[in-house]
Amino acid sequence: MRGGTLLLLSAMKFQKTAAIMSVGDELTLGQTLDTNSKWLAQRLLEVGITARIHLTVADELDAQRAAFKQLSATCDVIVCTGGLGPTADDLTREALALATDDQLVIDEVSQSQVQAWFTSRGRVMADINNAQALRPSRGMSLPNLQGTAPGLYASITRGEEQVGVFCLPGPPREMIPMFEAQVLPRLRPDPDHQVQTRTLHCFGIGESDLAMRLGLLMERNHRPLVGTTASGGVVSIRIRHEGPMDDDAVRALSGVERACQKAAGEYYFGTDDSSFAMTIVRLLQERAQTLATVESCTGGLLAAMLTDVPGASTVYAGGLVVYSNEQKHAMLNISLERFAPGGPGAVSAETAGDMALCGREKLGATHALSITGVAGPGGGSKAKPVGTVWISRASSDRTADTRCFEFSGDRYNIRLWAAMCAMAMLRYKLLEIDGPLLRQSVRV
Ligand code: ATP
Repeated sequence: MRGGTLLLLSAMKFQKTAAIMSVGDELTLGQTLDTNSKWLAQRLLEVGITARIHLTVADELDAQRAAFKQLSATCDVIVCTGGLGPTADDLTREALALATDDQLVIDEVSQSQVQAWFTSRGRVMADINNAQALRPSRGMSLPNLQGTAPGLYASITRGEEQVGVFCLPGPPREMIPMFEAQVLPRLRPDPDHQVQTRTLHCFGIGESDLAMRLGLLMERNHRPLVGTTASGGVVSIRIRHEGPMDDDAVRALSGVERACQKAAGEYYFGTDDSSFAMTIVRLLQERAQTLATVESCTGGLLAAMLTDVPGASTVYAGGLVVYSNEQKHAMLNISLERFAPGGPGAVSAETAGDMALCGREKLGATHALSITGVAGPGGGSKAKPVGTVWISRASSDRTADTRCFEFSGDRYNIRLWAAMCAMAMLRYKLLEIDGPLLRQSVRV
């Protein structure tokens, strides 16, 4: 590291807040999903730096320069990804030099590293790749061990302070190792500013109903801060503490966690990284019981969710996808008359019930879950509109439960909700509670 840069880094104040900037037309036009920002925000939070702004900027020099300036006015450190390639639309180097009132110079070490990257692969380096070795004269290059684009570090002056700017390549497989090896050791998180988060996941309750239950806990001046988010049918309570992590803070965090869990009641199913399927697998493991699935409109989605959980083989017996009426007949012995005009049809309590009962016996499991419904967008009728889904659970204790749900949304949502509600039905059976999610459904 150059002496000047060392000085710059040591003069830098502690960093509490970060801005994350993503560069690229493919991002602003919605052609590529910005996963870098999500990853960076989580990683920064783990070391005690809170991302306060995410900004996505097109491949335009002036917009990028202005973005660096704007972000440096309010945040302690900027992490930018993308736009470090060798082509004319890769403008991050130039924008950084403009924003730091500097000029670009060739970094000889970087130049030989880029050259060596090509040589080691038996390829001839194109002239345009020389541009990748450019860096602001007062900044530094960050080596890239996974690709050709070196990262950059420079700082923008804000009054008496220096705001560090790290520029990393766009591809996540290059960005992540560079962040870990080159950025993390150079960050200066405030030791008195620790960030601790807990996420409590709930299923079967809407976000506003959950907010009502949480009441004053969600006030914006409440510490630790409590908020909610909904994604994929799961509503999550997010608890965040910022500040010194002393005994009082530890007590406050666990007190609020307990209060939130209590408010969520039976809807709460797991914390932090736990998924709904993980909860089901764990509950079955604790009881040494097994599960089979028999799916029609979800086409194996429920099986995929369950088998996504490491260790699911200890409880998941297997699944059948019986999409056509012929397969429902051939695999489960359901009479073809069931599907004839005037009969209850494939989407019915009778079919769902038989699917679960026969499937459980066939696969020799403690429980079976079946799903049959109209996922749309076509195929709906007045009697069975798109979103009508019958779900059944059958168990070896001879209990069975078949319910009708009316889901809204598109095909993706209807299938997702069907798989989640099937798991919810089993969860309530395993916990021996009368599940509140089933209030909106018809019980037969
Ligand atoms: P390289 O020269 O190695 O491509 P670069 O810094 O020029 O690096 P970009 O050209 O901006 O990177 O992006 C290259 C690819 O990286 C994009 O096409 C996209 O697939 C991926 N990428 C870029 N930014 C992001 C992001 N924010 N989130 C997820 N993927 C991204």
